[in-house]
Amino acid sequence: MVNQTRQIYFMAKYIFVTGGVTSSLGKGIIAASLAKLLQARGFKVTIQKFDPYINIDPGTLNPYEHGECFVTEDGAETDLDLGHYERFLNIFTSQSNNVTTGRIYQTVINKERAGAFLGKTVQVVPHITDEIKRRMQLLGKSGEYDIVITELGGTVGDIESLPFIEAVRQLQWELPDEDVVVVHLTLVPFLKAAKELKTKPTQHSVKMLSETGVHPDVIVCRTEEPLSNDIKRKIALFCNVKQEAVIEALDASTIYEVPLMMLREKLDLFCLKKLNIKEFNEPKLDKWKVFLDKLKYPKAKVTIGLIGKYIELQDAYKSILESFIHAGAMNEVKVQVINIHSEFITDDNVAEKLEGLDGLLVAPGFGSRGIEGKIIAVKYAREQGLPFFGICLGMQMAVIEFARNVLNLKDAHSTEMDTNTSNPVIDLMEEQKKIKMMGGTMRLGSYPCEIKENTLAHTIYNKTLISERHRHRYEFNNDYLEAYEKAGMIASGKNPETGLVEIVELPNHPFFIGVQYHPELKSTVEEPAPLFVHFIAAAKKYNETKSALISSLLQRSEE
Ligand code: GLN
Repeated sequence: MVNQTRQIYFMAKYIFVTGGVTSSLGKGIIAASLAKLLQARGFKVTIQKFDPYINIDPGTLNPYEHGECFVTEDGAETDLDLGHYERFLNIFTSQSNNVTTGRIYQTVINKERAGAFLGKTVQVVPHITDEIKRRMQLLGKSGEYDIVITELGGTVGDIESLPFIEAVRQLQWELPDEDVVVVHLTLVPFLKAAKELKTKPTQHSVKMLSETGVHPDVIVCRTEEPLSNDIKRKIALFCNVKQEAVIEALDASTIYEVPLMMLREKLDLFCLKKLNIKEFNEPKLDKWKVFLDKLKYPKAKVTIGLIGKYIELQDAYKSILESFIHAGAMNEVKVQVINIHSEFITDDNVAEKLEGLDGLLVAPGFGSRGIEGKIIAVKYAREQGLPFFGICLGMQMAVIEFARNVLNLKDAHSTEMDTNTSNPVIDLMEEQKKIKMMGGTMRLGSYPCEIKENTLAHTIYNKTLISERHRHRYEFNNDYLEAYEKAGMIASGKNPETGLVEIVELPNHPFFIGVQYHPELKSTVEEPAPLFVHFIAAAKKYNETKSALISSLLQRSEE
């Protein structure tokens, strides 16, 4: 029998993931792993993240504050967890998948200014919570998904999380019981001195959540040590859930192991049972398992230098680091990434700083701090034949280095760092010149790029038309293009409509490529970014040649 109400109002079922005790427990990874399992069982799944901060989006946040800003196809600047969702699920997310308190308030305030509340006092409950609920169900009502997973940012007990928790409470009440699951992630710490796992923080956190009216159906316990049956029973008893709803989430050697761990713990099966879904397939995870095998048992190692200015914080380059993991597995090598602070690279120490590397990646970034160090590092890679890969700002640095040291334009620069340079080889895009507001106004999202045949870019992509995601204001200044190409740096990729240079490369170098876009944003477990795959292959070759040279030198000295 078709349930009319369900058809009209509730197109999808909802899983909410909340977090307790502390931040950084890996809520995003648990949500993505559950989504992966449901997808592998044949469901159409998407994940969204609701962030309680007041910024409209993380686009204006310093990476030290918030880690990387992930950009979606439609140009939304979003939380880095969306990157995990895309990498795990091999799907595209969009602006609708990431909502902040700021965005909720902006909508409500705009409505108030438009007079849409008809003289009513506008309040957190019901107006803000109604807007949260509307957005929580937006993707679910699109008819595209069977299951929508919503990750709530922050930790239960935070003041700013309250309206989101209240929205979940109301939805739990409004929607049929079998349409909602609440998964709560907590920590079960191991006290070394007592040699014991402690359940009290979990009990407190569930109690705090229950006081807001939301009762979790499943408790996922992050732990360093396996949970015994006794511990599970204790958590179940005191937190008022079935024992099978207490899920162990042991620390994993890689985040990509987590879906299989959750499968063993039957997290997906418990959720399906609560959602009253009785028909599903055995999970198809063959590709995932092949990837994991290659990741865990590499045949060789390459060392890549990542030159950036936010290297103290790993989250600042999240997608780049994950892309290396995907590309490493594809090449069956372990990619060891050495973080090198660009601020401390000088002409005198560059050889020493980059010693032992098999490849160099100059990272994206903004502002002038650490710029000269990046340029020195590019020069070293260009002259030494070291595989080089520049992303966004990294590509711009390669362009500046070439101008200064090959074209002999000594003061060449980007107008981002020096507005008075007489050789602005990197300049502000025309449409950027009139922009005053900084939020959401960069060249953002997916743009096409036409690739020249018989180039490195063509070998890498094996296509003449690609599409990649952008996040920048400055670009290659085409007034200089002829001089560059005559001197040996070619533009192998351009935007077909505007002629903006998107890829530069040096044909007379073993592997030297810079891209204005961010290929790391589209790398997934199932489809690693081709640029990363080829860069790692070039680094592997460089390493093999280096090793062969060393052993032949050793052999000669022994003779
Ligand atoms: N700051 C540079 C620009 O805006 C590069 C940006 C980036 O690396 N994402 O063009």
